[in-house]
Amino acid sequence: MRQYQLYINGEWIDAKSGGTFKVLNPYTEEAIAEVAKGSREDAQIAIDAARKAFDSGIWSGLPPQRRCEILLDIAERLAAKQSELIELETKDAGMTTRMSSMADIPGGIGQFRYYAELARSVPFYEGLPPMEFPTSYNFVLREPIGVCGQIIPWNAPFLMAVSKLAPALAAGNTVVLKPASYTPITALELAKIIDESDMPKGVVSVVTGPGSTVGEEIAANPKVDKVSFTGSTEVGRRIMELASSTVKKVTLELGGKSPVIVLEDANWDVAIDGVLYGVYLHSGQICVAGTRLFLPGSIHDEFVEKLVAKASHMKLGDPMDWGTDMGPLVSAEQRDRVEGYIKSGLGQGARLACGGARPKELEKGYFVEPTIFIDVKNDMKIAQEEIFGPVLSVIKYSSVDEAIDMANDTIYGLAGAVWSEDMGRAMDVAKKIRSGTVWINEHHMIDTRHPFGGYKQSGIGREMGIYGFHEYTEIKHVYMDLVRKRESKLWYGMVCSG
Ligand code: NAP
Ligand code: MG
Repeated sequence: MRQYQLYINGEWIDAKSGGTFKVLNPYTEEAIAEVAKGSREDAQIAIDAARKAFDSGIWSGLPPQRRCEILLDIAERLAAKQSELIELETKDAGMTTRMSSMADIPGGIGQFRYYAELARSVPFYEGLPPMEFPTSYNFVLREPIGVCGQIIPWNAPFLMAVSKLAPALAAGNTVVLKPASYTPITALELAKIIDESDMPKGVVSVVTGPGSTVGEEIAANPKVDKVSFTGSTEVGRRIMELASSTVKKVTLELGGKSPVIVLEDANWDVAIDGVLYGVYLHSGQICVAGTRLFLPGSIHDEFVEKLVAKASHMKLGDPMDWGTDMGPLVSAEQRDRVEGYIKSGLGQGARLACGGARPKELEKGYFVEPTIFIDVKNDMKIAQEEIFGPVLSVIKYSSVDEAIDMANDTIYGLAGAVWSEDMGRAMDVAKKIRSGTVWINEHHMIDTRHPFGGYKQSGIGREMGIYGFHEYTEIKHVYMDLVRKRESKLWYGMVCSG
């Protein structure tokens, strides 16, 4: 079994309490790693180190070219370890090897490279309109914010770790990262690689341990300048509350209940598979999963029939097996949660078109079958709350306006999708969906260069692209006066004319 300590101030150390916890493989239900269980005290030591490293200028003071070289070197070391990372991620998170090798790991490495390059290519000076009277040069200096606390979820652990660390480091910040307790392994492997690089000590620390202690300390500690969090909306609210004591900057990437609106003229050949991919990728444990499907009454029955035929043939099993379509949920607790929602759907009058149970042929692993509910009303719990499991709620509509109203009738606004062959109509719908991303005839397409984040209670701020980079910078306006003579100053005569 792998053993991991805390990575603090460039050293691998045990938790102060000496405590550890086990990490399970959700397919075998067996422990695959033992990890140090950090506490508030460990988090404080890491934060102090990050504070010292930031204030010394050991990282932010390096020429951007040098920061770029160190980050690129880390990206190359990650690329050299790609196949090991793919295997570890699959065993830790239960995501299929198809997903970890086609999206999560190479996507994360690509993102690391992208931000490494931005470290030297983004201008840290931006000119402002000059002033003629009084004559002055004006510009913006983009500076790092300082110590960034970063807290991530379990669904795409490596990609999440990179999308927090890489932009923060590229902009010159120092970081304390807390991985999710279900899936800390690849973030700790990333720390190993950072440790082997020329990254100065204290710039990056990775502290594993419970959200209720390590996470809360990061969000509340006055030495932290910014908290960046990805996870549930409920915990996001708590993070904001804790961060408010010292008015920290916050970036929140929270939950979603993304609508998928199929118009009558959609190309079924692609849309059927697209809808299934939208909801069942990673067993539905994706914040942008298309979990509410809006179908016009005219095509509802036939469309559902085709969805059910395909969903019931999806292959569940060992995520390490290339033939597996869907792996297990991350934990027994998560499976309980999903099953609770299935019960609630039935209790509120929705009907199962397929799924709803654990697959009989699999004795181990936290599986739930691909599940489709019909006769769903948009105000039911299964249509309003984030399930984070393989559950699709199908809702009938009679006009596109009604579909849009229902699509927007949610506290969330992370993503949405429209399926239609008429780009004009699709664009009209896309404009009316209140969310941070809308796909037309696609789902899940997220590119390192494109902004990602939520409207409404799905979050604050954006990640990815230059947008994500700027979230890790402060904007300083510098006013450089060009009027030398006292009598020519604007204020001459206003205060001191003598
Ligand atoms: P979660 O329960 O909110 O946990 C996320 C992280 O916060 C974990 O590291 C957790 O630590 C920590 N945490 C828990 N309670 C905390 C507290 N009181 N103070 C500080 N930190 C705390 O979310 P999850 O169940 O891991 O992930 C699923 C959620 O993430 C879903 O809602 C999903 O939509 C969202 N998500 C959003 C995006 C996005 O970009 N918008 C992407 C992926 C996932 P422990 O693991 O130790 O409990
Ligand atoms: Mg795990």
